[in-house]
Amino acid sequence: MDISVVFTAHMKRRLTRRALVMLELALRQFPELDGKGITIGHTKVHLGSAVLPRYPTPESKLTIRLKVRKLTYNTIGHELTHLLQGLSRQSALTTRIPAGEKQCDVWTIARSGLFCDDAPGYLRLPRVVREKWPEYALSVRSLCIAAIEKRRTYRLYLRWLEAEIKQLARRPLKKARDATQLSLPI
Ligand SMILES: [Zn+2]
Repeated sequence: MDISVVFTAHMKRRLTRRALVMLELALRQFPELDGKGITIGHTKVHLGSAVLPRYPTPESKLTIRLKVRKLTYNTIGHELTHLLQGLSRQSALTTRIPAGEKQCDVWTIARSGLFCDDAPGYLRLPRVVREKWPEYALSVRSLCIAAIEKRRTYRLYLRWLEAEIKQLARRPLKKARDATQLSLPI
């Protein structure tokens, strides 16, 4: 895969070894960005942001900005998915990703388990799911994948998804509880 990445001068000063490794791994999950150029800048204000050209062409420069402190794969994935949303407006992409923040979360989580290291920011999650995210991450990811499938025939797939996630919080966390028992020092 060939994605040419350019860091802004501001980002170069802040970039850590850890962030660099994370970016490399995250970019590998986005074959749609093959052959594209991405500029990565730094932001202090938000976790991240993506800049989409108003009228994207195959040569358009794509830009994301990230906060390096406490950087998560979920944030990197979210911003890269925004780039795909922008590119989806061209006809080039076979799998179009609909616009919107919640949609961005769903497609990011569904893309790879790598992006499940932190809870998505826009999808409505019950408090327990957000607080105990690692225990729910896999189930939420399965539901996101199911929701993308459901979207083909059901317009209200996001509402369906959030209702399903809400249900998740009501069920006992069997697997997680077993895991806790196993980790007890005996
Ligand atoms: Zn966003």
